[in-house]
Parts: sequence; structure tokens; C-alpha cells
Amino acid sequence: MSDLLRGLNPEQLAAVTLPPQHALILAGAGSGKTRVLTTRIAWLISTGQASPQSVLAVTFTNKAAKEMLTRLSSMLPINTRGMWIGTFHGLCNRLLRAHHRDAALPQLFQILDSADQLSAVKRLLKSLNVDDEKFPPRELCHFINAQKEAGLRPSAVEAWDDYTRKRVELYEAYEAQCQKEGVVDFAELLLRSYELLSRNEPLRRHYQERFRHILVDEFQDTNRLQYSWLRQLAGGQANGPHPPNPRPTTGFAQPVGSGGAEQCSANSHLHPGEGGGYSEAPRGACIFAVGDDDQSIYAFRGADVGNMRDFEREFKVANVIRLEQNYRSHGNILDAANAIIKHNARRLGKNLWTEAGSGEPIRVFEAWSDLDEARWIVEEVKALSRDGHARAEMALLYRSNAQSRVLEHALFAAGLPYRVYGGLRFFERQEIKHALAYLRLIANAGDDTAFARVVNFPTRGIGARSLELLQDAARAGGGSLMAAIPQVAGKGGASLAKFAELVGKLREAAHLPLPELIEHVVELSGLRAHYQTEKEGQDRLANLDELVNAGANFIAEEGAVGEEGELSADLAAFLAHASLEAGEHQAGEGDDALQLMTVHSAKGLEFNVVFISGLEEGLFPHENAILEADGLEEERRLMYVAVTRARQRLYLSHAQTRMLHGQTRYNLPSRFLEEVPAGLLKWLTPRVAKGGFAVSPVPALCVPSGTFSGMPRRSETTGSGWRIGQSVRHAKFGEGVVINLEGSGQDARAQINFGAAGMKWLALSVAKLEAA
Ligand code: ATP
Ligand code: MG
Repeated sequence: MSDLLRGLNPEQLAAVTLPPQHALILAGAGSGKTRVLTTRIAWLISTGQASPQSVLAVTFTNKAAKEMLTRLSSMLPINTRGMWIGTFHGLCNRLLRAHHRDAALPQLFQILDSADQLSAVKRLLKSLNVDDEKFPPRELCHFINAQKEAGLRPSAVEAWDDYTRKRVELYEAYEAQCQKEGVVDFAELLLRSYELLSRNEPLRRHYQERFRHILVDEFQDTNRLQYSWLRQLAGGQANGPHPPNPRPTTGFAQPVGSGGAEQCSANSHLHPGEGGGYSEAPRGACIFAVGDDDQSIYAFRGADVGNMRDFEREFKVANVIRLEQNYRSHGNILDAANAIIKHNARRLGKNLWTEAGSGEPIRVFEAWSDLDEARWIVEEVKALSRDGHARAEMALLYRSNAQSRVLEHALFAAGLPYRVYGGLRFFERQEIKHALAYLRLIANAGDDTAFARVVNFPTRGIGARSLELLQDAARAGGGSLMAAIPQVAGKGGASLAKFAELVGKLREAAHLPLPELIEHVVELSGLRAHYQTEKEGQDRLANLDELVNAGANFIAEEGAVGEEGELSADLAAFLAHASLEAGEHQAGEGDDALQLMTVHSAKGLEFNVVFISGLEEGLFPHENAILEADGLEEERRLMYVAVTRARQRLYLSHAQTRMLHGQTRYNLPSRFLEEVPAGLLKWLTPRVAKGGFAVSPVPALCVPSGTFSGMPRRSETTGSGWRIGQSVRHAKFGEGVVINLEGSGQDARAQINFGAAGMKWLALSVAKLEAA
């Protein structure tokens, strides 16, 4: 047996070496789906059944794509550079760049990330004088994205009432604005490339002939648009009558030819014209999809598990392989995961088992407050590091980004290195976005979103009035903001003209190598000088330096894409990379750092030690999801994803009180804790009430006596001027006595006995207390 296949179990082996037919691998967490998918690519190439150019693989994150490429290079003596392996967005970006003219886009089109999209929509509403309370920008973005994901352009949306008609009108205006500015949002990347392929027959044929093997990881989380895109690319010959469209409300055509297994023509050996020409070779790729219905966690963003059933039916998938052996986690962890997910009614059904022993029990910690929980985690991580565990092999997971602040604060205070994925995203930091906006203006002076961001940053005395005049002039002339500058008179006009001059100067430097160009922009734009004078500007300056490094790394990793005399192509590629990679790049990479991330971003990853924090009703499961069965099942799948990230050790924690969005909340422990059989758990804190999780509404009464992890519980001061025993007055609760204080700065809070109004925890930065 070839080295590639050694160590695979019989089902995995069968999956890797399936004949070229459409296949679905439906398997639980940690059963080797991603490994099977990667090995299959290597096997197809090494046995001569596929060339690297004939493979297209879709991963869920850029990180996963990079890992896949690295693994492939280690398995095969080939150059993986240039292989079509990436996320849906990354691959669509590549397609549109290569065929920008056919897609009616400027060569250097820019990508709007979700924050950019929101500001573009706000700008649109303002320019059209639309009341943003009636049409909240966030909701409008959501509406527009949902239409695009259903394949619907404004003319195809059915609007039955005035409100929807107006939204459709705004959708249309938004499209016009984006087209004028040469920008595309995330959903547009997909829809535009779907339309490009469906309208352009020769191009479609070309790619259908080229890609013989399409492999998709995390298939359960594809949305309708992504599925249609795949279906179109897979092509093939039509086979009898099409099945009825299961979702008549979408704008997608039926498969261009959803061939059955026998139509998948990838077995017809490599086509000599591969990669070039539009010859009449057999078309149609085999789709090899791997997924786990129990890990579908993106329904809120339009993902649709139904795609798995549709795929099976529409492609007449003859091979559905199930993998049930888990190689990742110890028995107790797996039993907990199985027990939790059993509470879901809608499942395709499977159970995981492992040969590994039961391992350690699952540790549960009940904290008094979120600060307490964070401190305990810090102590535990320190202890584990002392015992020789690498921090990079430990993950701290939370349900919502908002939870990370308290955790980060505690880690920072303790000097523990950590790295946050998502949340505080490098490419989304203010100073980075400003620098990128200047770069975007170099690439495309008509990019109004970038223009609006930096025209007066650093401040250049350009006021709101001048900008309004500029907008009016641009609208009247139908051109960009930049182009309308000469039409604004007076002092404002002069300042605007200076800005145009600055951008002109920056553009003259466009021939510089990318890192030098970035450096130049940071200087000349005044950004560096601005942050040098800012009190907390040091971090921001460090980030700007990091951006220069990012430019250098980008060129080193990707190679210069620009041909001679066409250096702006590097810039465009870098800007696309910045939009697509937001959230996946962090300074300090390579350090042995604790990994912090939301459960959503932990998908597909694995760690020796996992902490799942904030296991409270309302938080996890999230309050927005508790009331409906679908929502609750999705939360439970999320919990299943969280638990199955752990290899050896799993910690679950919850806090009785938590400060969220400026309010103290008293949360009951999550129902998911109760769904884990008691025999698998080891409580690190005394349980409050036997046989249940009864928590008194007055948290002070249910604090177990003693201290946790040897940490003092009541001795903290806030430095806020209040002291224990002091009488205070609150506008709503009346007079009371401070009986406890904890935290400091923004986190400071006091527990106060208000007599008749009861015992309350109040955030001192929010509650307006007076001394009584
Ligand atoms: P998820 O659903 O979480 O994405 P997955 O099904 O993709 O999980 P992988 O990440 O491919 O699972 O595999 C989980 C772990 O098990 C990896 O560390 C992988 O290397 C290991 N593994 C998979 N198959 C085998 C095998 N046959 N022998 C030994 N280890 C294996
Ligand atoms: Mg995987």
C-alpha cells in the first residue's frame, strides 16, 4: 500500500480511493473527514488520475486552505502554488479578477467587508435622504445579502408591500452605487461569479473542462448560492428530466446538467487541453463533499443542511460513506458530545466511538462572577503550562465576542500570552483600515467608501458642509466624489483640492514595491504623525508597522503577481487579501500563546485542552435562540462543535453573575451542562444545590464558602471611592448599603443591599450612585 494510504481505517481508505463519482462523506467530528479529503487530492494526483490544475477544493477558512496546501506539499513532490484551493470567497475573487471584463468589473475592483458594506449603506441612505430609523442600515445590509444569497437581483425580488418595495428600491440604488465605485461585497463576489459562469457559455465550458475534481470540506455549512455555484461548475451532461426545484423562491436556474454518478466524466483521463482552450472535451467534475449535519452552525447566515439531501438526490450520489471512529478525543469527551447532541430531534443520526480510553473526567467550574471565572482560567492555564502543556495547544472558547474582553483583561494582567482569532481583527483595526483606504484610493480613485473614510482623517479642516456639497455635486454629475472636487468652491473646495493633490502624489508612488508603498502611504498621508501625537497611539503605530510587514510577507508568500509595468496588480491582490483574511491574521504569530476564539471560529480545529466558558442560559444557548426549536438545536450543535474540539482535557465553566453590555445579569447554568451525564463530570467547586442548578436570585447567598483556587474573593477595592459598609442612594432602588466591591475601572461593581428593593450588583461606571 502506498505511503499515502497507510494508517487509514477501511472506511477512510474506501473514501479516499473511491472511483471518480460524486460522493458524500457524512461523518461526525474528529472522524478524519478533512484528512480523507486532503489525502484524496494527494492520491488522485499521485496516481495520475488528476493533475494539480484539475482539482478545485473549497475549505471553510483561509487558515484551513493554507494547512491543506502545506499537507499536500509534504505528501507530494509537487508545487502546490497556483492550485485552486481556498474559501468560496477566495476562489470567486480569483475567478472575477481573471475575467473582470466579462464580469463588468474594473480590474482593480475592491472588496467591501461587512463593516465597509454597512458604511456604504449608511452613506447611500444619507445621500437619498432616507430615514435610517425606518430603514436601519444593518437590517438593510441583511436584506440585501439575503437576496443575493438567494440569487435574486432587485428586479427578481417579489415585493408585496410598500415597505419591501422601498427596500428593493434601496437594494437597486446600493447596487448602482457599488458598480459606480467599482466595489463588491462578500455576497456579490459569489453571485457575480455565479452569473459570470451562467451567462458566459465558453467560459463555463472552459472551467467545466478544467476542473475534474471538486472537493468540499464542511459541506453542511454551504448556503444556497454556494451550492448553486458548485453545481454549475460541476456541469456534466443532463440526465433525464430535472428534479423539481425544491426552493422555488430562489433565482437559481436548475443544474446546467446535474449528471448522475455515471455522468461524472473525470474518469475519462486527463484532457490534453487542460488549462487552456475551449475545446469540446467531456465536461463535468466529480464532487466529493464531506460534512457533518451535527456541526451545521451557520443557518443564521443562510447555510442550509438541506443542501446535503439535495446533493444526494440531484447528483444521484451512489456513494455515501459514514465514518464513525473518532481519532481526536478521549472517551469521556466523546460520550459527553454524543449525549448532548442526542437531545436534537432533527439529525441524520450517527454515533461516534473511539479506541482511546475514557481519559480524564470533564472538569466543571462554577464561578461567582465573570471576573472570577476569568481569574480561575488564568490560574488553570498557568498551572498547565508549569506542567509542560504548550499554551498554543490550549483553546479558550466563548459563545459571543463580547465575552472576550474580561477574559483578555485577566490574561493581559497576568502576563499570559494569548492570541485572539476573530473579534479584534487585525485588518479591521481603525488605523489599518485608514491605511488601507489610502491604498484603495491609489488603486481606484473612484472608491467612494475609501474616500469618505480618509478625506478628513487625519483632520484637514474639511467639514460636513463641504462634504455635503461634494456629495451633491457627485450625484448631479454621476461621477465619483474625487471627480467632483473641482466643483466645490470656497475654502472647503480648496481643502478638498489639497486632498486630491495628496492622493495624486500617493499614486505617483504606485510603482514602489508593496512594503515601501505602504510605508510611504503611512508617512505621507499623515497617519504616522497623527498617531504619534495620540495618547494611546503606540499600539496603533506598531500595527501600522505590522501592515508593512504584512505587505512584505504577502509578496514573499504569494510571489509578485504583477507583471512588469503592472505593479498595481500586487496592490489589488494585497487589498483583496486584506478583505478576505480579516480576522485570520494576528501579530505575534508563532508565540506559544493561548488560543482565544468564538465557538464558530473553532470549527474544524483541535486542541489538547479546551475551556468552554460562559455556559449559562441566555449566553450559551444564546437568548435569541432559546425560544424556538430550530434556534435551540443550532445552539446545541454549536455546543457539540465546542466539546469535540478537545483531545485530552475539557473544562466547562459558568458564572452566577456576569456583566454584559453594561448590565449585570444573573444567569442560570446552561441546560447543556445538565445534558452531560453526571458520571462524566468532576466538579471543581461545591455544587450549590443537590441534583440541580438552583441559583438564588441573590447571588451572595449561594456563594460557596471558602475561596476558589486560593484567590481572595472579597478583599478587592475598586479605587472608585466607595467602601464596604457605606450608605448609598440610587435613583430607582432607593437607599442601600454597600456590602461588596469588586473589579476596577470600567469593570468595577458593587453589591448593594437595598432593603425592600433587594440585593443588587451594580456596575459603578453605569449606575449613578450618590452617597446617602
Ligand atoms: P471535524 O468534524 O472537527 O472537522 P474531521 O472529521 O475533519 O473533524 P480530522 O480533523 O480530519 O477530522 O481528523 C481528526 C484528527 O484525527 C486529526 O488529528 C487527524 O490527523 C486524526 N486522524 C484521522 N484519521 C486518522 C487515522 N486513521 N489514524 C490516526 N489518526 C487519524
Ligand atoms: Mg474537518
